[in-house]
Amino acid sequence: MESHVPDAYSDLRDNIREFCMKEVIPVAAKIDTDDSFPVDLFRKMGKMGYLGVTVPEEYGGSGMDYIAQGIIQEELGYASASLALSYGAHSNLCLDSLYRNGSEFMREEYVPKLCSGEWIGSLCLTEPSSGSDAFAMKTSARREGDSFILNGSKTLITNAPYADLMLTYARTDADFTAFSVLASDKGVRKGSSFKKLGMKGSPTGELFFEDVFLPGERIVGKENDGKNVILSGLNVERAILAMLFVGLSRRALELSLSYSQERKQGGFPIADYELIQEKISYMYTRIEAARLLCQRALERVQNNRFNVADSASAILYAAEVAEFAAREAVQIHGGYGYTSGSEVERLLRDSILGQIGAGTTEIRKKIVARAVSKMFREGWRP
Ligand SMILES: Cc1cc2nc3c(=O)[nH]c(=O)nc-3n(C[C@H](O)[C@H](O)[C@H](O)COP(=O)(O)OP(=O)(O)OC[C@H]3O[C@@H](n4cnc5c(N)ncnc54)[C@H](O)[C@@H]3O)c2cc1C
Repeated sequence: MESHVPDAYSDLRDNIREFCMKEVIPVAAKIDTDDSFPVDLFRKMGKMGYLGVTVPEEYGGSGMDYIAQGIIQEELGYASASLALSYGAHSNLCLDSLYRNGSEFMREEYVPKLCSGEWIGSLCLTEPSSGSDAFAMKTSARREGDSFILNGSKTLITNAPYADLMLTYARTDADFTAFSVLASDKGVRKGSSFKKLGMKGSPTGELFFEDVFLPGERIVGKENDGKNVILSGLNVERAILAMLFVGLSRRALELSLSYSQERKQGGFPIADYELIQEKISYMYTRIEAARLLCQRALERVQNNRFNVADSASAILYAAEVAEFAAREAVQIHGGYGYTSGSEVERLLRDSILGQIGAGTTEIRKKIVARAVSKMFREGWRP
């Protein structure tokens, strides 16, 4: 399917597509079957300038913006959703936030390593007893003079098993604070990787912090201002991640178009049957609607990162469409689609994460309703 991007981004789109065709699509099935993170490929993405796409060149990035990051996310989502998930966690959740909120020391010492792929990054918010209610976290950082002592644990963290730097949120005396925690810090322990339904090859793991000594210079943003660090990135994160699911949906439709025109039953291609046509028509319509919604959200959060309604509704819809499209793709592929190793089966398993990771569908509905109601009270009309 043709993806419409503003002219200024068409070279980037062509380059990332070519990269995906040559380097990602050929290994996408193996990433899933072996459940193994392609570290070398990830580092290569750093060399190509994709990892630090939103970071200025003087800090090792490519000096582009969120629309560019969304294009990369979409194309990776089309080629390998699990690689795209790890990309989003590293490039947006960790690196972009660290660059925006971090000190000059972090920009000089850590950001270039994350841009090049020498280091892998994670964002650590979720804990065993706090997921949707993230601010119920128990992990704490106790002040001792100019430093902090970190204790607690994080779970379900993308890239954790490979991470060198973890942007970690902890309770501090008055509120929450974000810290750069390094895997090499004494007292940091990595748990094992989770086995998952989908997104295999995107490593997900636990982290344990036991009396980890953090000098004050590890604070990201300001002390007791962690909520603002989180909130400053949430809407961008939603709009970027939504593009992964647009990419995944496009692949589901493409495979369905191809198979339904080749597969014959009763003497005709199954594409000639109206019940199959209904599926194709809804898939196309909803995917295009999701794409337009997501692109608009990206353009709007680019200028206003506190735009909640556009970004939350984009990911709410794109994730639902991805699961719908992948499910219809399996149906169109019949029994073959249900077998392990068929690409549509992988797409369906991967698509389910869209309604859970980075906030669930239920929470997104609450967020959209709250945001739209507030806009209405303030004078906005549909
Ligand atoms: C593959 C994967 C990668 C992830 N990567 C990261 C990462 O990199 N960093 C990170 O910090 N976290 C990560 N997460 C965690 C993810 O953000 C959480 O799983 C998600 O926020 C939901 O939290 P939970 O799993 O604790 O579910 P819960 O919050 O316990 O929710 C369980 C169910 O209850 C519903 N529910 C909860 N509260 C409400 C409510 N108030 N109203 C209505 N329904 C509600 C939920 O929608 C859900 O259906 C990842 C998760 C997965 C599966």
